[in-house]
Amino acid sequence: MIYLDNAATTKPCEKCVRAVNEAMSESFGNASSLHNLGTSSMQIMARAKKTLLAAVTGGKSPFDGNVLFTSGATESNNTALLGSMSRFRPNTLKIVSTAIEHPSVSKVLTRFEEDEFEVLRLAPKNYEDFTGALIDAVDENTALLSAMAVNNETGFQIDVPRLYREVKRKNPKTIVHIDAVQGFLKVPLDGDLISISGHKIHSTKGIGALFIRKGENILPLLSGGGQQNNLRSGTEPVELIAGLEAAVKAYHGDREKFSELKKCLLEELSKLSDIGINSDDDCIPNIVNFSVRGVRSEIMLHSLEERGIFVSSGSACSRGKKSGVLDALGVSDKDADCAIRVSFSAENTPDDVRALCEGISKTIERVRR
Ligand code: PMP
Repeated sequence: MIYLDNAATTKPCEKCVRAVNEAMSESFGNASSLHNLGTSSMQIMARAKKTLLAAVTGGKSPFDGNVLFTSGATESNNTALLGSMSRFRPNTLKIVSTAIEHPSVSKVLTRFEEDEFEVLRLAPKNYEDFTGALIDAVDENTALLSAMAVNNETGFQIDVPRLYREVKRKNPKTIVHIDAVQGFLKVPLDGDLISISGHKIHSTKGIGALFIRKGENILPLLSGGGQQNNLRSGTEPVELIAGLEAAVKAYHGDREKFSELKKCLLEELSKLSDIGINSDDDCIPNIVNFSVRGVRSEIMLHSLEERGIFVSSGSACSRGKKSGVLDALGVSDKDADCAIRVSFSAENTPDDVRALCEGISKTIERVRR
């Protein structure tokens, strides 16, 4: 099997699996219990928080705030947006965002629009300097800015530290939320609220986090037993949290290796005819989106699957439905219909890339004949 769909999900690493197993058999106590087993679970959570706070900033000083454990980035994004906006009144305030957000952000934005908030969704294809455009759109009435660090379909990225710094300079009251699912451990991050997901970094599904900067007040989505400082009721999944910490510590995907794989892929693709590259040089190197003109995405995807090669069509989240994201990134409808997304992990090799391109070439021969 050649797995090239790591933006959809990743295989849990060995250290994560071991940590989950260990916590399940030895530290299965309820973190709220007063006995030893409860304390041990509390300690696992405290240690994981420390690791995550240090990891999210990418090496500088740790993030100045708290970590809220969630079920994944869908919950983190919903909590960030609904939890921060619930104290504002519509009509006077606006929200700045992008036209390329994941549905767990864009659908919440639509709810805000229905509640008569003004929502600005900027499309990267209309700007030379997209980070600058987002900053320019912020004014004294902007309550919230929500933007993804790295787009899941093409790898398009913004300069998050610059965005955060300059938005705060323009309006210190604007809450900055970053969906960092595809950027965590890969690009420098900053923000008031930052969402991440475990299963994109070789941890398990069902665990994610929302980083909340000190002083930022959000209201909970879930009420009940008051766990996690009343911000998310429900018994904490200590096993999954232990797995997340282990995966963060073990993560070793480096930019150089991904750049090498991307270079190899572009070289191999250049030998084939009628290919459009939808991820330019500024995109993150572990995600490459391209169109094999004349071969619809699904045909290509299943043909590669027959050879044991797993890739994605445009976006795994939209399952064949047109999302509009590729259009907002400047990809024509025709090219979007035959778009393939390849996303690497540190385990992939140039041989994987060559096998992929051979599979593409053979499929082209069969379909375009
Ligand atoms: N945001 C982005 C950018 C994503 O790629 C994804 C997953 N496809 C999500 C949010 C949702 O993450 P989760 O699967 O953890 O809910």
